[in-house]
Amino acid sequence: MNNTFKTFFKCPTIPQYAELSINLFNIKADKVMLWLLIVQWFIATFITSIAYDTYIYGFFSGALIVLPMLFLYKYLKGDRYYRIFIAIALMLFSIVYIQQYLGRIEMHFYIFIAMAILTLYKDIVPLLVAAAVTILHHLIFNYLQLYEVSLFDMPVMIFNYGCGFDIVVLHAVFVIIELLVLGYIIRLQVEHSVDLNTTQSRVNELNSELKYTSSHDMLTGLPNRINLHEQLQNIKNFSETNNKRFALIFLDLDHFKNINDTLGHDVGDALLKTVANILTASLPKESLIARIGGDEFILVISNFEDPSEILPIINILLQEFRNELLIKGYSLRLSASMGISIYPNDSTNIKELMKYSDIAMYKAKSDGRDNFSFFTQSLNNKIHQEVDLINDMQRAYYDHEFELYYQPKVDVKTQMIIGAEALIRWNHKTQGMIGPNIFIVLAESTGFILSLGKFVIQQSTKDIKEFNFLGFENLKISINVSTRQFQNGDLYTDLKNAMQQSEINPKQLGIEITESIMMQHVGKTIATLKSIKDLGISIYIDDFGTGYSSLAYLKSFPIDTLKIDKTFVDDICENENNDEIILNTILAMGKSLGLKVIAEGVEKKYQFEYLKEKGCDIIQGYYFAKPMKKEDFIALLQK
Ligand code: C2E
Ligand code: CA
Ligand code: CA
Repeated sequence: MNNTFKTFFKCPTIPQYAELSINLFNIKADKVMLWLLIVQWFIATFITSIAYDTYIYGFFSGALIVLPMLFLYKYLKGDRYYRIFIAIALMLFSIVYIQQYLGRIEMHFYIFIAMAILTLYKDIVPLLVAAAVTILHHLIFNYLQLYEVSLFDMPVMIFNYGCGFDIVVLHAVFVIIELLVLGYIIRLQVEHSVDLNTTQSRVNELNSELKYTSSHDMLTGLPNRINLHEQLQNIKNFSETNNKRFALIFLDLDHFKNINDTLGHDVGDALLKTVANILTASLPKESLIARIGGDEFILVISNFEDPSEILPIINILLQEFRNELLIKGYSLRLSASMGISIYPNDSTNIKELMKYSDIAMYKAKSDGRDNFSFFTQSLNNKIHQEVDLINDMQRAYYDHEFELYYQPKVDVKTQMIIGAEALIRWNHKTQGMIGPNIFIVLAESTGFILSLGKFVIQQSTKDIKEFNFLGFENLKISINVSTRQFQNGDLYTDLKNAMQQSEINPKQLGIEITESIMMQHVGKTIATLKSIKDLGISIYIDDFGTGYSSLAYLKSFPIDTLKIDKTFVDDICENENNDEIILNTILAMGKSLGLKVIAEGVEKKYQFEYLKEKGCDIIQGYYFAKPMKKEDFIALLQK
């Protein structure tokens, strides 16, 4: 009610975006009304000239109305005052017409039309004025009729018409009908303005909703990338004027993808929400926390003078993340890696600071994760070197700089070499030997791993043929395959072709895949693995124990062998008579599934003894031999 009342007296508020078009519309409507007045003027002049043989009355009385309106149009067009004058002018014309005996009842229709046109303005005030003028017109009309008065000394035609009381009553009926119609139009106008107001508030609501959704991450409610950049600009300005520093921290969860792939997106989402809560709770209140991608967050800590001041905060964060989290019934262990760049020490450019924190984060990851690292210029150089390496791979491939090394696998019981793992090396022409830990990730990032993978398959099968030729026909050689080969490579076809070309016994070849490969697109992976297994090739799970594979899953995969990750072997302690729970569990698990178990990374005698005692089948590690050139491997075999 209050709202209606207000809009009745106030012009309805018009959304900003509509204001311009309404203004243009009003100017157009003013023009139409002006033309209407001119036409009225023409009619008044023309008809009075027929009736009185002179155009002078109609022409002058019309000019009195039209000329001021022409003048006002110049200064007031599009304005509310102009609309009010238009309303008055149209009503005045009706008085002129009646005065000149140009029809009476027609005039009322004419008034209606004028009123209806006025509603086009969607403005209530001119309509009210028009209504007032209509009433005034009737007062004057009735006065003229009843008292037989002439205005401006014009010829009074009304009296010739012979106006009796019945005509006055008829007229009064018209007045009532007119008022009803006018009332209705006014009501429509009021409703329309209320409508306009509710539309406007809905538009405002939507706008603020849109503003929120476009600037926030829907899952965690944290600011998103766009929002981050806006706020960073403010923080930068503040730091600049107050001579302060701020730290831009790139935080990435460790192994989040594994959790998402194996436990599902629901658990992943819930975990991310928990992470957002941990961050909000652990950081100083005025910090900026944004989520910029899957498991990537940016934290901005501002208003400090020495970078060492943020170390306690970082350590608290790392500690908080290490706590066991209970999410949707799973108890999960999480950790995070952080890269830090400092304004203005590292750069004064926000984009650069973002890039640098990203680089530092990768350093933290490669330092073993669950860690943080400050950006340094030498890190930057390292990145440049990596880019150089990436660009150099294709050339190296054609120059035959990649080669396979072999690390023997030894049967625990007989202590005989039963096979080897093929491990790739890059014998770079200027930089010397480069290990796979450096270039495999780079090759994966560019897709070059697909070419490398094909090379490994071809070279290893060729080498197996050579071993056979030399009389070592029972060796089992395993090769490593990467995610990309599984997803967009022709792993199966490549293996099949290699088998046909080399004519070796497929039993002599095995592929090593990690748990995380297995857990991606499980259905498709099982199918591919089955077809590979149908070729007669063995399948090993590599780095076993570091992923999240569940027993239920393991059963449905066509696996032959588990390779226990080095970290569990490292856990075996000398002299202490402790029970290595995880290691024992994995061994028991392998046995119960009928799988062979290999332990890798065995470096010490006591590790070997322990594994032997626990029933591990095969051992691989520096304790027996490091990966070596093919020639050295053959020499070792011959010994
Ligand atoms: P991985 O498959 O887990 O390979 C085992 C790694 O552990 C090898 O490192 C091996 O040299 C090392 N190692 C073996 N025994 C010991 C030990 O007793 N102590 C220590 N400290 N290390 C030991 P390498 O050759 O540097 O390979 C690293 C990783 O690169 C491999 O890990 C594998 O994931 C990847 N890789 C190697 N060759 C290939 C390949 O041909 N294709 C693909 N896609 N990846 C490969
Ligand atoms: Ca391996
Ligand atoms: Ca491994």
